[in-house]
Amino acid sequence: MGSIIFGPLLSRRFGKSLGIDLSPHKKQCNFDCLYCELKPAKTVDKYDDVISVADIIAALQDALVQHKDIDVITVTANGEPTLYPYLNELIDEINKIKDDKTTLILSNGSTINDPKIREALAKFDMVKLSLDCATDKCLKKLDRAHKGINASDIMQGMLDFKAIYHKPLIIEVLFVKSINDNLEHIEALNKFLITLCPTRVDIGTIDRPPAYKVEPLSSKELLDVASHFDASLPVYIIHRKGSEIRAETYSSEEILATLANRPLSEDDVNILFDEKSKDRLKILLENKKVKIFKIYGVTFYILA
Ligand code: SF4
Repeated sequence: MGSIIFGPLLSRRFGKSLGIDLSPHKKQCNFDCLYCELKPAKTVDKYDDVISVADIIAALQDALVQHKDIDVITVTANGEPTLYPYLNELIDEINKIKDDKTTLILSNGSTINDPKIREALAKFDMVKLSLDCATDKCLKKLDRAHKGINASDIMQGMLDFKAIYHKPLIIEVLFVKSINDNLEHIEALNKFLITLCPTRVDIGTIDRPPAYKVEPLSSKELLDVASHFDASLPVYIIHRKGSEIRAETYSSEEILATLANRPLSEDDVNILFDEKSKDRLKILLENKKVKIFKIYGVTFYILA
């Protein structure tokens, strides 16, 4: 495993980002997800390998001198970053030196029912929490959560966090074939997300070799999943590399009907629409039947 700072990485979802790995020496996580890109590991509820805030800040200061053009400082880990015991102190120190950069944390969401974690996360400019499971059964099977973690606490914690956090909150759902992609479960997630009302919902599937033998959804299946979410939720599909979907022709009416069903991201349009359909979309934009809105780096098309 590597060093404290990694990148810069260019991400469509978050911009040009410099990463901070709070667990650079080994995996320390309270989940052991079937789809994890890291090797399987016993779950933990606290870090035993802890790097100091001073070491992290020194490494970040050096990296910021070298990479002046980054947009985002992303706090993450080989594991779960909110298990880092000095997170609150760390974000205070990062905020002192971040200048015009946006701070972001990528968490699995498991600790959000802890008020101390909510207090630390509220100091970030942007928060991404995962929510693969709306039920304990799924949480146990897919995320293989550490004992004591349950889905209802996570979802209540997210609601409590949303009540105090008025900056971008992104929820990410990773779908795994035959585990959390059934209609009943998608509906449970959808119902909760309508109540939570996050800034954006990012959905994806396995795109790298997983820790355990599990299968991704096809691009078509992922599109089908997206269509079950409420049209009010800006769902961004993290399209798989080498998507098997062929661009098709949409009439203006079909474009409007599709947008009535759900907002389409620029990536969706590039994958789903052929050139003629893209021209029709442009005309619909000019005629103010369709409008654009941007959510932190992602452009969406919606009905005007
Ligand atoms: S939460 Fe992230 S690091 Fe932890 S097991 Fe799941 S995918 Fe791996």
